[in-house]
Amino acid sequence: MSDESDDCLFCKIAAGDVPADVVAQTPTALAFRDISPQAPMHVLVVPRAHYGDIAQLAAAEPALLADVVALADEVAGDLADGQFRLIFNSGPRAGQSVFHVHGHVVGGAELGWTPA
Ligand code: 5GP
Repeated sequence: MSDESDDCLFCKIAAGDVPADVVAQTPTALAFRDISPQAPMHVLVVPRAHYGDIAQLAAAEPALLADVVALADEVAGDLADGQFRLIFNSGPRAGQSVFHVHGHVVGGAELGWTPA
């Protein structure tokens, strides 16, 4: 496990130190609604442990990445129709603004495809 960063917003949410609308959780991962939703369902799924991005998480703890993906699937089944897009922005030019790995679980509507 990587060290928790004192300055990490999502570490603070995972610890319960910053409030969030938590929709599901497991011993290893947490799902909470994005504060600025871009789709009818827009939930963030994060490992409780701090990793900067998806590649770092996959390299260090692939089973934990699988936990995060399974939680996304569970959330989509609970909040939408079970169909979802799971987006991991990796790096500032890809749109990452919080450097604790998180997947955007979006769905609940017909989704367009305009990543750029
Ligand atoms: P990124 O841009 O890193 O891929 O995604 C970060 C996401 O975190 C954004 O969609 C943003 O709306 C969301 N976000 C930023 N601050 C907060 C917060 O304090 N609470 C919640 N629930 N979401 C946040």
